[in-house]
Formats: sequence, C-alpha cells, structure tokens
Amino acid sequence: MKWTDLKHLDSLIRETEALGAEVEEIGISSEGRSLYGVTVGDRDAAHTVVIVAGCHADEIIGPLTAVSMLQSLVQQPWPDVKFGIVPVADPDFLHRNASELPTNVTLRDLLQLKHCRDLEGHFTTDTYPECIAIRQWMRGFNQVDAYFSLHSAGLIAPGLFFYVGRGANSRCVHQAASGVTAALPDHIPLLSHDPTGLSQTVLSPGFFELALPNVQALNQQNPGSSLAFVSHHFQPQFVGASEMPLAICPALQQAALSEIEQCNREFRQTGHSKHPLREISLDTQLSIMRTLITSVAHCITTA
Ligand SMILES: [Zn+2]
Repeated sequence: MKWTDLKHLDSLIRETEALGAEVEEIGISSEGRSLYGVTVGDRDAAHTVVIVAGCHADEIIGPLTAVSMLQSLVQQPWPDVKFGIVPVADPDFLHRNASELPTNVTLRDLLQLKHCRDLEGHFTTDTYPECIAIRQWMRGFNQVDAYFSLHSAGLIAPGLFFYVGRGANSRCVHQAASGVTAALPDHIPLLSHDPTGLSQTVLSPGFFELALPNVQALNQQNPGSSLAFVSHHFQPQFVGASEMPLAICPALQQAALSEIEQCNREFRQTGHSKHPLREISLDTQLSIMRTLITSVAHCITTA
C-alpha cells in the first residue's frame, strides 16, 4: 500500500467484494458518502474479530491497515474466524484529509493533516450518525471475541504502545506482546509507561491497561468509546486500541507530554526537529498493526 491509496479507499474496499468479502453499506455520512461494514470469512465461524478504523480521521494508518487486512483476508481466509471490519468510520473527514495529500507524501504532509472530530470519544452517543450506524451494525453479531479500534499516536513519539481494555484475557495480552515484540525493528522501542498519563497500569512493555466505564452510566453529557461499547455488549476476550506513531524520537524517551507535543508542533511548522528522528515506513507500520491483530486472533482460536 501507499499513503496515497487513501485517495481511493472506496474502490479498494469494493474490489475485495469480487474476491468474496461481503461489503455492506451500513449507513450514509452527513455529506452522503457510503459507510461500509465488511465481513470476511465463514459466516458460521466459531469466532468473530471486529475492527473499526478511522474514528479519528487524521490518523490515516487505521483505514490503510483495515483495507490491507481486508486484502489479505480475502486471499487467505482464516478457517475459524469471521472478521467484521469498518475500514473508514468517518468518510467525510477522511475524504478531506485524502484530498489534501500530495502525490509524494512526506512526514510533514502527514503531520499537517488536520480534519478530525472525536467519533471515538462520542461513540456511545447520538452526536454523529456514523457512530449510530456502526453501533447498529455491531449489534448484528452474535458475539465478538476480540475488538480493535485503530488509531495513531502523537505522530512523533518516543516509542510505541497499545491500549488494552481492562478484563482482557491475559494469555491474549501475552501473545500480542510477544508477537509485536518479535516483529519490531530494533529502532522502535516499546514504551515503559504511558506518556499521555491515561493509563497507569503496564500489563507488559508497550501494553497499557485502560479502564472502561460502564456503558449504562454513559449518556450525552458523559460519552464513551467504542471499546466501552463493545466490552459492555459482548464481553470479548480482548479489546484494544493501537497508537501507532509516524516517527520515533529517542531523545523524548523521558520527556513530558508537553515536550512531545512541542516537538510535533515545531516539526509541523518548520519541517525540522531539534532532536534526531527516525520515520517508521508505511510497510513497517502496517506490519506491526497486522501483527497485533493476528496475534490476538490466533490466541482466541486456540483458547
Ligand atoms: Zn485517535
């Protein structure tokens, strides 16, 4: 895949239909674009993995990962797992970001994508019709064994981490951690703590536990995430979110969040950073994201 594949994701999604994926229009965005829910694999499979990408439309690795997963799943379906995937949760805002990407994409171009609204933070509310449609589509599954919401992190970051919803099967967390660790190039460290401060609990280096609020207690004033929604409705063995960075800056290893944000701001404005950075190629990002998902999927089928 290429960054510019973002410009024609709909046709890439449609292409998987000819190869056996079930592509459903599960809703229409406010501006009239199709919202797709795609199912791949045996309808009667014993296990279900659900992936939602693009709840934050400027974190474009999510939709690219989802479509690349779809492409490989139609080529090589898993015998015992059905995958349900929403590759683009916010088609209108993703379209704006895609149309601003130049032909030759640089790190700075990616950092300058800015069209984003918080579908993740408002997932359980009726603020966005896209969230209502995705919730409705998810309720159609009898069970969900694992759930992923695909995000990217603060772009230039000291290292890599993922969030895991509280209550996850520890064997799945362990398999995800060992799968990702084995697949990581040496220059990408797994972080020892959450730089955002959201999680205080380290399950394994780079795997931080996230408390999930009770969905019953959530309302329009007190909204909840897709992880809270899925957790409440299906009690899966694993719910998680990726926070993939675009570049690693080792000098930020002990930095406070404000310093990490400052570094991102400077680079966005000037194209330079006072600390050396190393970009993570799109292929490497895709491979890490896929490893996370397939490690967990493998774990639930061997339980
Ligand atoms: Zn995000």
